[in-house]
Amino acid sequence: MKCHITKKRIAGLLGILLIVAFTACKRQPIKVVSTNTAMGTVIQYTVYATDGEIAENVVEELQKELQSLETQRLSWRIEDSQVAIMNAQAGKTEGVLLSKELYGYLEDILEVSRESKGALDITLGKITAMWNLDSWSGKDEKAREEFVLPDEDALQSVLGETGYERVLLKDGRIYLPKGMNLDLGAVGKGIACDRIRAYLENQQEITGAVISVGGSIVTYGKKPDGSFWKVAIMHPREEGAYLGTLTLQGEWNVATSGDYERYVEMNGKRYHHILDPSTGYPVDNELCSVTILSKDGLLSDALSTACFVLGAEEGKKLVEVFGAEALFVTKKQEVIMTEGMKDIFEESK
Ligand code: ADP
Ligand code: MG
Repeated sequence: MKCHITKKRIAGLLGILLIVAFTACKRQPIKVVSTNTAMGTVIQYTVYATDGEIAENVVEELQKELQSLETQRLSWRIEDSQVAIMNAQAGKTEGVLLSKELYGYLEDILEVSRESKGALDITLGKITAMWNLDSWSGKDEKAREEFVLPDEDALQSVLGETGYERVLLKDGRIYLPKGMNLDLGAVGKGIACDRIRAYLENQQEITGAVISVGGSIVTYGKKPDGSFWKVAIMHPREEGAYLGTLTLQGEWNVATSGDYERYVEMNGKRYHHILDPSTGYPVDNELCSVTILSKDGLLSDALSTACFVLGAEEGKKLVEVFGAEALFVTKKQEVIMTEGMKDIFEESK
């Protein structure tokens, strides 16, 4: 008799468990889509969560995180951000104590600088300011009309104060030589993507997400139907058109650097925002865009800029060092890819 009751109880319990499991399986994740701005760019969120309200809160929290990344840490334009403080203290023998987070980012950035033989160089701060690169973003026609070339002598003299190899990181501190200014514009969006991923990893209710920080993209988790993430790559010469699509299984970062978003034209020549650190002038090689695929956001962004400077041949060798994949588009509209990218990319018809 005793045994019979126990069996009944177990059967009942199992029944309840099955109902709970069945309900949980049936509950489809809710999709929340939202667009906002932060870090001087457009942020597009697509978040899948077990609860709509939680998804909305997560988007709100991510917005705050990106804003603080800009204002408190990365922007050289905002007076009391960590980067602005570093720049203001350049030349001081005691250097500047950095947060562990920023110190780690700078170590990774300098590694890409070394491997790319200086194609990525965050010490171009004064040069990027001379070109007034920021003012060319978006549809600021006035800034474009008022564009003048920087004075050649001034540019060359400031160029003499640059050089990633002169940045010293030691025991949690950074030492910049006098006159040097850092500009983290080439890696800021990638760092934002890493912050986003770290945040999402702590949110159990988030089942999947694809978030674009001004075109640098994070894919996270899974889509509810189990299908792969699709990420479109912009056509570098046909406005509003896509060059093709990446089909991504799992969690990736995609970053693109191109000459087509921030540029001015003068006397038939295009001046864009990616500079050759050896000349101080916009890169002028066979490329008009580079897209990088990596598991790491900072790396994807750092490599996209470095590869744009290096060109396709050297760029391919660089991404191999970091286990990333690359897609280059030439000015002749030719698409060049690393082997791994060929399996993932499908060109638009
Ligand atoms: P985007 O910001 O449009 O995604 P990038 O990631 O290539 O493009 O970053 C370009 C920005 O990086 C420029 O606006 C400038 O601030 C900075 N920059 C330009 N050339 C270099 C370079 N060779 N190395 C490091 N930073 C650079
Ligand atoms: Mg970049």
